[in-house]
Amino acid sequence: MTIGWMGLGLMGERMVKRVAALGEDVIAYNRSPKTIQDLPANVRMTQNPLEAVQGCRFTFVMLADAGAVEAALFDSGAIDAAGTGSIVVNMSTVGVEDSIRLAARVEGRGVGYVESPVLGTTKPAEEGKLVALVAGREAIVEAALPYLRTMAHVIHRLGNVGNGAAMKLMVNYLLATSMLSLGEALAFADRAGFDVHTALDVLATSSVWPGVYAGKRGMIEAKDFAPQFPVKHLAKDVRLFTEASEHWRARTPIAGLARDLLRRASAGTFADLDMAALSAWFRDDRQDQT
Ligand code: NAP
Repeated sequence: MTIGWMGLGLMGERMVKRVAALGEDVIAYNRSPKTIQDLPANVRMTQNPLEAVQGCRFTFVMLADAGAVEAALFDSGAIDAAGTGSIVVNMSTVGVEDSIRLAARVEGRGVGYVESPVLGTTKPAEEGKLVALVAGREAIVEAALPYLRTMAHVIHRLGNVGNGAAMKLMVNYLLATSMLSLGEALAFADRAGFDVHTALDVLATSSVWPGVYAGKRGMIEAKDFAPQFPVKHLAKDVRLFTEASEHWRARTPIAGLARDLLRRASAGTFADLDMAALSAWFRDDRQDQT
């Protein structure tokens, strides 16, 4: 059996290797040509999205956003090449309504749909230590589990499609406000006359020091912002969080400010940098911080 894969970005290029380790042939689509180091021999790359669906019982999708998923699956006509009873597993982070709409469109073609956004970034992706937030029809989810287990060491089964997206956006909202707050705190410390190392030393001994700060500390101190999780995706996720909040009338007033700040941060050169760069964004006098 051939496994289809869509999306060889920062996450996809690592995750596909985990799935390939099961030994089945994998046909992996990416829109742009790409060179991937240590690509397993059973993975063939293609720029034709139809090939990642045709004859595949499963197609795993790890693309930038809902627009990318629609382009690759629907606009290209790939979904028409899918066999009845085959299964699309969408692991991209998309909005709650996006996911429900994508599921309906996929299922409308007689194809099963599993929603499985993931927690964790490039290193956990490499190590198969992501956390999968899985939703969809029971039997279809069961069928996808052996593959999901190669990528994720924790699997939350969350019920109906849309629930995985909701939990993913909840987590990334907290991630975003944590990183924005750290950036602000470090800008404050800077003006108070402290270097970043001293400020981080103090913060690291406080009770408000979460795991994500520990993970990003080295990057912030070294000013190494090579992307693991780019600012543009964090901005997308908080925008999706605010949209879902508005839909459900959830009381999330801080989210609007976070969305606006991230929209500005991702409008320029910070877009493709790792979210650790938000520490520098707040201290950059060229930014309008009002
Ligand atoms: P990425 O590095 O930006 O890769 C995005 C992928 O989407 C690339 O394969 C890109 O193709 C493709 N793409 C974008 N627009 C497209 C279009 N219109 N048509 C076809 N393909 C398109 O993203 P990533 O970091 O791997 O993240 C992928 C998804 O997982 C996102 O939803 C992100 O929010 C989520 N996520 C990321 C992380 C992380 O730490 N990075 C963690 C958890 C979840 P090209 O190469 O041709 O541009």
